[in-house]
Amino acid sequence: MRASEELFERARRVMPGGVNSPVRAFRAVGGCPPFLVRGEGAYVADADGRRYVDCVSSWGALILGHAHPVVVQAAQQAVADGSSFGAPTPWEVEFCERLCAAVPSVEVVRLVNSGTEAVMSALRVARAATGREGVVKFDGGYHGHADVLLVRAGSGVATFGLPDSAGVARSAVQATYSLPYNDLGAVHELFRRRGGEIAAVLVEPVAGNMGTVPPQPGFLQGLRELTERYGALLVFDEVITGFRLHYGAAQDLFGVRPDLTCLGKVIGGGFPLAAYGGRADLMRLVAPDGPVYQAGTLSGNPVAVRAGLATLRVLEDGAVYRQLEEVGRALEEGLREEADRAGVPVCVNRVGSMLTVFFTPGPVVDYATARACDGARFARFFHGMLARGVYLPPSPFEAWFVSAAHGPEEVDWILRAAREAFREAA
Ligand SMILES: *Cc1c(COP(=O)(O)O)cnc(C)c1O
Repeated sequence: MRASEELFERARRVMPGGVNSPVRAFRAVGGCPPFLVRGEGAYVADADGRRYVDCVSSWGALILGHAHPVVVQAAQQAVADGSSFGAPTPWEVEFCERLCAAVPSVEVVRLVNSGTEAVMSALRVARAATGREGVVKFDGGYHGHADVLLVRAGSGVATFGLPDSAGVARSAVQATYSLPYNDLGAVHELFRRRGGEIAAVLVEPVAGNMGTVPPQPGFLQGLRELTERYGALLVFDEVITGFRLHYGAAQDLFGVRPDLTCLGKVIGGGFPLAAYGGRADLMRLVAPDGPVYQAGTLSGNPVAVRAGLATLRVLEDGAVYRQLEEVGRALEEGLREEADRAGVPVCVNRVGSMLTVFFTPGPVVDYATARACDGARFARFFHGMLARGVYLPPSPFEAWFVSAAHGPEEVDWILRAAREAFREAA
């Protein structure tokens, strides 16, 4: 028995599904996940000594690749200096100054430990600021596992949400509305009927959690206009897109200024670190300046903050993003070509270094069109890739992430594997 199989058996005895986050259990693709022991640049190695080109990149967190020397050094030094104080440190000041400087809409910011916490807290601020309870999200949008957002994707337009997870109180989601992504008309209609009850519209400026789905021209701008007209707040969940598409938030690429922004993943350099911030008048509602309570024992943890700072310093000059765009484009074009050659209908959506191969002719513009993809075909393709040393996200509804450690050699490796994997999946 392989070492990973043995570990998975032990893991399932002591952890639900053998994992600490559901998608890692490979349920969508079947089989045993490789248990990883090492990461280096664009590669990961498992407990059986197999090496893979990594297209998960810790779900987008590792924009510089695994164990980037500058990040490793910063983290090691931070641990040696004391790993946690539960008190203010100079690094968090510099870090927050950097976030505010890089994201103009973020005037004041609070650090937390996960994207879940960031979004949950931003919504608390939005409700406090508006005195309203309604929250609008989009089908297929994922914003962490806070009760209020676990609403069945695809639920009827403008109907009261149903809990998507057992254990979520009906009352927690009765003011949550889930609408089709890119459907401004549906948002307009909801505001027309319930505008006075809606505290916030929460949106991923590029959707990443139903696979990569870019916003259609005018969608984000339209959300800005509607929220302004009805006195609701616009909250951008940039946990994936923040510092992923350029040095700053995606909002500036689209020319839309949200009221609040959530960051995570990339900003922590592979450590548990996230943030929410925005207009000063809103963020001053947060304790101890204001009445919105939110706290954390390990918030602003110096190891995470110093690793994040090191990451942002490397990203700052912009060269990394030009490389990510080039490598992303080569991958997109190559994958499309290989799928065509094998006669497999796919829709490849890409924005910068995030990309998804949907096993459907497409176009994929929202959750309904994403769900039209052939899951069994994806599973065959996934295992074909894994067997050839390419580690993809084990679900058809995820983004693949390219890092700065991915170059032409890795693209070749991926495309060679894809040529055969597409043929097997056909
Ligand atoms: C990953 C993610 C989250 C949740 O972040 P965690 O750190 O996993 O809690 C929230 N929003 C988006 C858009 C994400 O991709």
